[in-house]
Amino acid sequence: MSSSSVRKKLPPGAIILNAGSTVKTETGSWRSLKPVIDEKKCTGCELCWLYCPDAAISNSKSKPPKIDYKYCKGCGICANECPVKAIIMVAEGEK
Ligand code: SF4
Ligand code: SF4
Repeated sequence: MSSSSVRKKLPPGAIILNAGSTVKTETGSWRSLKPVIDEKKCTGCELCWLYCPDAAISNSKSKPPKIDYKYCKGCGICANECPVKAIIMVAEGEK
């Protein structure tokens, strides 16, 4: 699907008309950089979960938290906010 055909489907202002419908928008396809958590450095503070604008990080008290790459758009906010720098951003496809 081309980006122009996607644009035509958006309502004015790209407002969300139906509550809960954002779950259908898999923002992970936007990503060029991907966050990776270093398990050894992570303290489990959950600040990454708190700051993630896409709710792509779990808050299930797992250490390290789990990232749902279907919705992570690669903005890097979690990496920026992690107080112990346990999250690095790597190029998509990099190991
Ligand atoms: S912000 Fe950093 S240290 Fe805190 S839970 Fe997330 S990855 Fe772990
Ligand atoms: S890169 Fe952005 S969208 Fe992805 S988990 Fe981190 S804060 Fe959330």
